[in-house]
Amino acid sequence: MVLNTKVWIVQDKESATASYAQEAGEALRQAADIVRQGGLIAFPTETVYGLGANALNTEAVAGIFQAKGRPSDNPLIVHVASETDLDGLVLPYPPLAGRLMKRFWPGPLTIVLPVRPDVLSPLVTANLRTVGIRMPDHPVALELIKLAGCPVAAPSANRSGRPSPTLAAHVMEDLSGRIDGILDGGATGVGLESTVVELEGERGIRILRPGGVTEEALRLAFPDAEIVSEPETSAAPEKPRSPGMKYTHYAPKGELSIIQGQPEAVISYVNEQARQSKADGVATGILSFSERSSRYEADLVLDLGSESKPEEAAHRLYGALRQFDEAGIGRIWSEACRPEGIGDALMNRLVKAAGGMLIELDK
Ligand code: AMP
Ligand code: MG
Repeated sequence: MVLNTKVWIVQDKESATASYAQEAGEALRQAADIVRQGGLIAFPTETVYGLGANALNTEAVAGIFQAKGRPSDNPLIVHVASETDLDGLVLPYPPLAGRLMKRFWPGPLTIVLPVRPDVLSPLVTANLRTVGIRMPDHPVALELIKLAGCPVAAPSANRSGRPSPTLAAHVMEDLSGRIDGILDGGATGVGLESTVVELEGERGIRILRPGGVTEEALRLAFPDAEIVSEPETSAAPEKPRSPGMKYTHYAPKGELSIIQGQPEAVISYVNEQARQSKADGVATGILSFSERSSRYEADLVLDLGSESKPEEAAHRLYGALRQFDEAGIGRIWSEACRPEGIGDALMNRLVKAAGGMLIELDK
């Protein structure tokens, strides 16, 4: 079924007039009605655009999986607008979870909590006994959830496997005709998804997915906690893996490799590879930090900003991956960054987007 996807502009305008505020308010009310009644609405958050549905309504939640083409065993994060929204959704949780909420909500931290049975749609939790919950730090997201009056299940608003959307235009690219509407609030902030944590005992915090709240920020806020980060892709140097092991996450259409090593070695390796690919008639792309972007030669060289500002790179990453797709780039090489601060989440997404193809030149 093809839907007529409505777009409402709700971004803050510098000279916001009373009539503009009224229009934005009306847009939010319409979108919230649609969510409450079982429709699908994409909305901006401080991380990436989310695709929201009423988390109590199984048909609505099934619509998310269908629109995205998402595998049904991947649970959805539930978004709330206040801590009291948790009442009735979850079972009693450790005090540390409450302290995390107080410190980091609203914000890019998803906390996995014991789910109260038979309240949320079982599709939300993929039949797990837990549910990931967060309170987004974005006025449009918060207002939408409040007006809808229900918990809102929302994964990123992209087709499954594609880079997450950081602009409403990215959502349109992937989901136009498949969802009821988009609240266009301009560019999202962090540009990468939330950090997902699980609690272990009274003091343990396990980071299941690095994201907008960094490990360092968690340690600083909770020096008494035992914080464990799943090492999975925290940029441990690895030999290139077989492309058959490709993850289907965050990926551009072209084949992406991440190259790690001394800057000069990376530059000559990448330029040589790009030359060869070009000779084979493949369009080439390079993703680099601005310190070195003028040193690369390819059909499209995109700049992630300065290496000293990984926040900027996080903000730009998904848009850049989509730009390579638009330009029809067949092979892409990306510089790596130190997995510190938000750089940890950045490397996690890059390595996944590359299907694990991380090439370590010094080894
Ligand atoms: P996305 O909606 O695409 O941002 O993905 C949601 C992420 O949260 C996935 O990595 C899920 O595996 C994770 N997640 C959601 N709910 C749970 C849960 N109950 N337990 C563990 N991880 C979860
Ligand atoms: Mg996603």
